[in-house]
Amino acid sequence: MSNPSTMSVIPPPVPSASVQAIPKFTIEPVVWIHQWNPGLMSLRIHRDPAYTFRPGQFARIGLTKEDGEIIWRAYSIVSAPDEAFLEFFLVVVPTGEFSSRIAKLKTGDTMHVEKISQGFLTTDRFKDGRDLWLIATGTGMAPYISMVRDSAVWRQFENIIVVQSVREHRDLAYTDELDQLARQRRSAAADAGAAQAKLIFVRTLTRETIDGALHGRVTTLTDSGELERDARLVLDDVHSRFMLCGNPDMVEAMRALLKARGFRMNRRLEPGHIIVENYW
Ligand SMILES: Cc1cc2nc3c(=O)[nH]c(=O)nc-3n(C[C@H](O)[C@H](O)[C@H](O)COP(=O)(O)OP(=O)(O)OC[C@H]3O[C@@H](n4cnc5c(N)ncnc54)[C@H](O)[C@@H]3O)c2cc1C
Repeated sequence: MSNPSTMSVIPPPVPSASVQAIPKFTIEPVVWIHQWNPGLMSLRIHRDPAYTFRPGQFARIGLTKEDGEIIWRAYSIVSAPDEAFLEFFLVVVPTGEFSSRIAKLKTGDTMHVEKISQGFLTTDRFKDGRDLWLIATGTGMAPYISMVRDSAVWRQFENIIVVQSVREHRDLAYTDELDQLARQRRSAAADAGAAQAKLIFVRTLTRETIDGALHGRVTTLTDSGELERDARLVLDDVHSRFMLCGNPDMVEAMRALLKARGFRMNRRLEPGHIIVENYW
């Protein structure tokens, strides 16, 4: 038996200066920018072929400050999983550390993207239900655009009701795309081979009144029954499933209102009716 004091000890490996830690992010160029109004923009960046996500998830993106520090923020992904770019829909908060910088980007500028997508605002968390109510304030529309651009959702539900709540008509982004999709879905319903799901698009303005849109907060419209009348669908716990995304005040008020009507939060081990995402 060897004497422990004379045994050779293998030294721990010394990290070589040439072995670099694998970065958690990629650096991607901006390929397209669209300004909806001075405070709202959409932006596409190149998508690393290895980047995967499910509609409804968010990316963490980073911008380098003047002092070299990277600021990170979460942004819901607007694009569909089969698109070659990552699209985001952003509010420009004038005093915001991140968004005031992103507003100055030009095509060709770069940003950091964490390699792993995150988030649980995904339709696969609902195991049943017929009508999917996607309720958003402002940029909370972002994850829903990704969902309706993806064909999987049309096989999972019979009715997709997108409810877009904004202050003024100039904040109504993505409406042409949604109107066109609603028309396409109507003609798909006439085609016996296609998934039969319909898109019902409801928009509401809180500070203006215009043709083709409701007027008022989504909570008020739900409480009064106007939302159901407009969508021509009744809320009930067998058929209705809800996603709430955007302003935390809306999310909380809507959650409380739905709870009072007998709907429950959806949990991993306890299926329910409501999934939420707060943006701040
Ligand atoms: C999971 C998740 C997903 C998100 N997805 C999006 C997205 O798709 N688009 C987007 O614009 N933002 C999104 N956000 C918010 C985003 O991460 C930033 O907070 C926002 O862009 C502002 O960053 P900032 O540094 O400029 O200001 P911050 O210092 O982060 O925020 C300053 C203030 O701005 C207001 N604010 C923040 N975000 C918004 C918003 N989206 N709309 C209106 N007011 C806001 C709030 O009052 C907040 O206190 C998301 C947040 C989370 C947690």
